[in-house]
Order: sequence, then C-alpha cells, then structure tokens
Amino acid sequence: MRAYQIPFFLPFIYSNRLWSGPASERKISLTFDDGPVLGITDWVLEELEKRGLKATFFMVGDNVRKHPALAQSVMAAGHQIGNHTYHHLSGWKSSTQTYLDDVASCDAILADTVGEAPRFFRPPYGWISPGQAKGLVPAKKIVMWNLLSYDFDPDLSSEILIRECTSRTAPGTIVVFHDQQKTKAQLKKALPDYLDFLVGEGYSTQLLEV
Ligand SMILES: [Zn+2]
Repeated sequence: MRAYQIPFFLPFIYSNRLWSGPASERKISLTFDDGPVLGITDWVLEELEKRGLKATFFMVGDNVRKHPALAQSVMAAGHQIGNHTYHHLSGWKSSTQTYLDDVASCDAILADTVGEAPRFFRPPYGWISPGQAKGLVPAKKIVMWNLLSYDFDPDLSSEILIRECTSRTAPGTIVVFHDQQKTKAQLKKALPDYLDFLVGEGYSTQLLEV
C-alpha cells in the first residue's frame, strides 16, 4: 500500500513543520530531493524552464561538492535551494550531534557554492528525531510534504504515478520528486506529463515560505 498522502493527523502533531503551502490560489510547490546530479537535475531545470515553473531543490551536500556548477544554475534560474543533510543521513540511525553536524556541513558547502545557507530543511526519509528537530528549529524550517510521487518505486508504472499525482494535486500541495540516479528513468517518463497537467489545469508554482 503506497501512502501518497500523509495521515491527516500528522500536521496536527508536528504543527511546526511545513506540510502544505497556502491554498488560496491555484498554486502548488514542486520539490526535488537528493540532487544535484548531472544528467538529471539539469534536465529537470530545462523541463521547468520550458513551462515557466519554479521549484525547491533539497540538496545533499556531497552532491553539491561534486556538482557545484549545477547547484549554481539552480540558484541562477530563480529556484529555491533547501538543505537535505551532507550525507543523506537517516535521523533514525544517527546521534543528534552527528545529525546536526551533517546539516551544518551541508549549510557550509551551500553557503560557499551559492552564497547562502538555506532556511529550509527536509529530513532524508522524512524521519527526524524530536531532539534533532529541536536542534534545528527555529533557525531552520522543516519541510515535509502532502503528496509523495513514489518516483523511487521500481514497481510503479509511470502511468499510475501520473494518475495518482494528478488526481491528488490541489491548491497548496507540496509534492516530492527525486533528482537522482535511481529515479532518473521514472522521472524522465513521468515528470513532463505531470508538469503539462499543472499548466493545462491552470496551476502555477510557489516557492516555500515560512
Ligand atoms: Zn532524500
């Protein structure tokens, strides 16, 4: 059973995290985790550019180190960059100090590369301990989502992915995709259709706001 949408009660329990955007206009927030990766992030940028859409890229520090020019082109194109730890750490498997240090390392490489440390943070795997979260807030705003594309699921056909994502998209949606090697093939099949759906249905995109 795939949980495209989060249980309704989670945003009430973790009310200091961002689960959705303003729903007053026909706008959604596109988010891409795990990049920047050459051959996929640059392709995503082109697809967004073609349609005049903006997105938030939650970057892994080690990938920023490998592909600094790509991180800079994300910034230069007017998109938003978020912190996704330096080593894609699981909060579940890391001590609080290790985790906070890793987030700080990601901030440092982003500050060096694109000139600023991000305000927004998304925990890898969506999991962060209360102690880790406490160490990050209020300097960081923790961003979750309310629509998961399952682009990382090799058993999911792109037709079903598109159907599930389009039928669940609504004003204020924060949708998660991944710009990384494992999801590359699926993303290339599904993302253009999803973006065309947004444009066709009169949606535009909004960057995250605190
Ligand atoms: Zn991730």
